[in-house]
Amino acid sequence: MQAASPGTASSGTIVTIGEILVEIMAETRGDGFREPLALRGPFPSGAPAIFIDQVARLDAAAGMIACVGDDDFGRLNVERLRRDGVDVRAIRIDPEQATGSAFVRYREDGERDFVFNIRHSASGRTRIDAAAGLLLQGCRHLHIMGSSLFSAGLIEAARQAAAQVRTRGGTVSFDPNVRKEMLRIPEMRAALEAMLHACDIFMPSGPELTLLTAAPDEAGAIAEILSLGVAEIVVKRGAGGASHYDRDGARHMAAFRVAELDPTGAGDCFGATFVTCRLQGMSVPDSLRYASASGARAVGVRGPMEGACSFAELDAFIIDHRGVDDIGDTA
Ligand code: ATP
Ligand code: MG
Repeated sequence: MQAASPGTASSGTIVTIGEILVEIMAETRGDGFREPLALRGPFPSGAPAIFIDQVARLDAAAGMIACVGDDDFGRLNVERLRRDGVDVRAIRIDPEQATGSAFVRYREDGERDFVFNIRHSASGRTRIDAAAGLLLQGCRHLHIMGSSLFSAGLIEAARQAAAQVRTRGGTVSFDPNVRKEMLRIPEMRAALEAMLHACDIFMPSGPELTLLTAAPDEAGAIAEILSLGVAEIVVKRGAGGASHYDRDGARHMAAFRVAELDPTGAGDCFGATFVTCRLQGMSVPDSLRYASASGARAVGVRGPMEGACSFAELDAFIIDHRGVDDIGDTA
């Protein structure tokens, strides 16, 4: 595990819990997988894994609670996370199950079709065991992805982890990151709602903002979520940029202009960078600028985790992409 970077206000590990998988992508655009295709992969992936890799690349102390199979897909992921500085001691190797996988193909309109094997993969066996408990003892911040709440076991593990971190005075961030396939799981909505109530920073993609609120519109949803005690809301809007809301008002940060090669992982890199910057005591505008650079950089790189990068790379990216509309206070 790497030491926190100079200037870090307080110590402790940023931890995430959830799925690790490989992504295998079709080389051509089109509809789904109903014919033989040229494929490229395996790439290390899984939304929480991408998130925590990006945290580590920023030289913040980072750890992950997860489960992989005793296979090359698992080794590929664990070795990447370890190399990038993530504490992998709470990633269990389960010899009974294979590591999760996702096949992805882009359609002509930029939408994606997936074939997932996650729920019945080793990821489904993620639990708070002794190694996970130890990691949580030194945790100052826990990040949860909604995509990780795919079974009763994972929901319980995430709930336990959040409760443990909050009891010790740590904070929690939550990205609903909902895949349409998952809304069919009955416990899912209750688990997402519980996580919204338990978090300090909420980071939905645009339409996810109103997914869990009684209010049907953005303004109403923001007021409702802030009234729950959530301190900060960051709405990710793809090439439309990102918006930040807290009790003091709203700010919008335009996206950097880049050619979109592969949007998978942009939201995870954005969220990881925002949380890491805020935990290091950076202002909201500075944190948004770094997070936006991180998201934009990720869409320009093929492969879900391949866009994760250091502060030096983000600084260079920001210098190269000057001219982005600056932060505007709208409230
Ligand atoms: P995913 O779950 O697919 O990883 P997301 O919906 O959680 O993505 P996005 O809104 O797609 O997150 O991306 C997060 C941030 O990354 C955006 O708010 C923006 O700052 C940046 N970003 C995303 N797409 C682009 C793009 N095409 N050009 C420039 N910046 C982008
Ligand atoms: Mg997302």
